[in-house]
Amino acid sequence: MRKAEYIWIDGTKPTPQLRSKTKILYDEGQPPVWGFDGSSTNQASGESSDCVLNPVFTCKDPIREGNHLLVLCEVLNTDMSPHQTNTRRGCVKACEDHLDKEPLFGMEQEYTFYKDGRPLGFPEGGMPAPQGPYYCSVGATKAFGRTIVERHLEACLRAGLRVSGINAEVMPGQWEFQIGPVDGIKVADQIWVARWLLERIAEDYDVDVSYAAKPVKGDWNGAGCHTNFSTKEMRDNPEEGYSYILAAAGSLGENAKHHIENYGADIEERLTGDHETCAHDKFRYGVSDRGASVRIPWQVADEGKGYLEDRRPNANCDPYVVARLIIQTICGEKRGF
Ligand code: ADP
Ligand code: MN
Ligand code: MN
Ligand code: MN
Repeated sequence: MRKAEYIWIDGTKPTPQLRSKTKILYDEGQPPVWGFDGSSTNQASGESSDCVLNPVFTCKDPIREGNHLLVLCEVLNTDMSPHQTNTRRGCVKACEDHLDKEPLFGMEQEYTFYKDGRPLGFPEGGMPAPQGPYYCSVGATKAFGRTIVERHLEACLRAGLRVSGINAEVMPGQWEFQIGPVDGIKVADQIWVARWLLERIAEDYDVDVSYAAKPVKGDWNGAGCHTNFSTKEMRDNPEEGYSYILAAAGSLGENAKHHIENYGADIEERLTGDHETCAHDKFRYGVSDRGASVRIPWQVADEGKGYLEDRRPNANCDPYVVARLIIQTICGEKRGF
């Protein structure tokens, strides 16, 4: 007997939420196709409520341990066509269309812990000391929620996700984990599973996870999902690689509006031009520039090859959409959303 936690992305607007339920598998073999009530998840009407769960990525369940499984699913209609909330199919297509470029992604998922209606580290009825000491901090008056963060990191690693690191962020109660470098579909699948694990583990501490782009108004950093990207051409050859990186940054600039519109809800509140962002209605790229839309890391400029960082995606972005748009824009096609 194995417990399989079927995880999927719902139809909540403007930001889809994660859902999951458990299926007991009495047989060996791959987890089968399953179904759910789409009328309870904004994915169907009451008269025609069935939606299909099609497993797309299975890994060990680090919470139940043993031989139990997490089963990430895409949502289909009962005729097996992709459901309109299924953004994964488009991402798969874009990745397949540009396999020859060998694209790699690293996503930096930021998030904010909440308890009793306010971010961890915020005092009741007031504000904490201004930003400054919290980023990459250690100590009980600066870092809030580390127990959950460490459990989450351990869980991701046990599940076999390609985590590359974690850090405390600029606002109290705000943290980040990174997935990558891996291909476009892997990065997005793994970001969704890592998000699910984070919410599930935080639940044990009565803590909620917010992926809101600007959780606290005013002089507090928002939460993003910086997306690092490279192709084989950008990675491989010194000098020549750099010309591909500049061309890629240029293409992102030409398509800036389309990207901003699909990088997550409330992006205007986060991309103001302050707090390490470039304004949402402007585009610029630069070396080491954390006030740019797209940053070229200094080591990359130094070596003349590597990757670029698109700093615009929100924490609440859909990584399938972000990965698809970046591949389409940089690898040549400019199809609409
Ligand atoms: P930052 O300095 O912006 O906080 P991070 O260390 O948090 O950077 O994240 C950098 C991300 O870039 C990591 O997820 C890493 O895996 C990814 N990365 C590194 N090299 C490449 C590459 N060649 N292509 C794509 N992503 C890469
Ligand atoms: Mn980072
Ligand atoms: Mn960060
Ligand atoms: Mn970054």
